[in-house]
Amino acid sequence: MLPDLLNRRVLVVDDNSSIHHDFLKTLRLEMDQDALEQARSALFGESNPLRSHEPFEVDCVSQGQVAVTFVQTAKKEGRPYAVAFVDMRMPPGWDGLETIEYLWEADPGLQVVICTAYSDQPWDEIRNRIGRNDKLLILQKPFNSIEVLQLATALCRKWDLTHKVARQLNELSHLVDERTRELQQANKQLTEANQALVQTVADLEVAQAEILRQNKELEGLASRDPLTGCLNRRAFYTAFEQAFTETRQRRNELCCLMVDIDNFKRINDQFGHAVGDQAIQAVANCICTGLRLTDIVGRYGGEEFCLMFPGTTLTEATDLAERLRIRIGTEASDRMRVVAGLMITVSIGVSAMTFGARTPLELIDQADKALYAAKEGGRNCVMALDLLVPGMTPSEQLDLQVRRVTPRVSTSSIAR
Ligand SMILES: [Mg+2]
Repeated sequence: MLPDLLNRRVLVVDDNSSIHHDFLKTLRLEMDQDALEQARSALFGESNPLRSHEPFEVDCVSQGQVAVTFVQTAKKEGRPYAVAFVDMRMPPGWDGLETIEYLWEADPGLQVVICTAYSDQPWDEIRNRIGRNDKLLILQKPFNSIEVLQLATALCRKWDLTHKVARQLNELSHLVDERTRELQQANKQLTEANQALVQTVADLEVAQAEILRQNKELEGLASRDPLTGCLNRRAFYTAFEQAFTETRQRRNELCCLMVDIDNFKRINDQFGHAVGDQAIQAVANCICTGLRLTDIVGRYGGEEFCLMFPGTTLTEATDLAERLRIRIGTEASDRMRVVAGLMITVSIGVSAMTFGARTPLELIDQADKALYAAKEGGRNCVMALDLLVPGMTPSEQLDLQVRRVTPRVSTSSIAR
């Protein structure tokens, strides 16, 4: 046991001062013997005699009330009593049992020995008042000094052990608290780190979405003609190839239109390239606003556009082409009149996969052939490929002819 835990403080509570004397004599005798042991050791050089006991420190009072004050003060000063020997009868004040009840209120750790003659109060009655309690022993009067010494020694030892255990439990509890705090702190740090990680992932996802959006925008810009916003020739051809393949696989219809602005060279020469560009934009705008969702339009050459109509029959395509020609003739011309006061018209050639084109380029060439015929036929009109001999399949035809879609009207023709 550590020296700082040794408690040899004893309180004697008895109304008889001769009893005080007996206790002092008994317990100090113990102290004197202890001193004798040390003296012998010094004189005869006996090696390191261990002291089996610290000396008892004994206080004596005559009444229960005074005893309670002593115990309260000692506890407050941090030097509590380990054991109290309490007499049962102490007139005129409290009896032993009442005194003990107050003593334990003042210091619950106090070990108590009640000193009684059996005639004072039977043990059963004592137990009924105090209850079962391991801090109370009975010393029957008349007692001898050995009993007192043994009780004082054993109960001081018990007090020390009890407090040592309590102190260790307290230290353990502090250790657990400290460890719990460390774990809570670590958990908090982990939670914060996890939140930061979640935020970083969210930020990355936002950044990734932005990159994808920008890529798509770049992709769009790379595939678009900057003047008109239509697909450029390369992007159009890629889309055309895909549609061509799908149409073949599904044995579906696909039509191709070549649209060319009439007399464009003259517009450029006469009014300059800026006006020429405006004419191209006006025509592109008319074409694009009239498209269906599945239709695709590309700027194929300077003033030439190529249109693709998937899932469309030749009849539907020629109707669409004619309507488109008429709208360009009014809407695009209206716009250009404000700018330069000139008429904008287009010639359109129409072809369809039913005429046996084996590649997209062949289909475009067929539409181009019809367009050439439209130019030759006076411009501002729609020409479509047609079968030379009705009733025969395209493969059975020696050649294809071109049919005029636009009805002939007597208008003053514009020289090419
Ligand atoms: Mg008495």
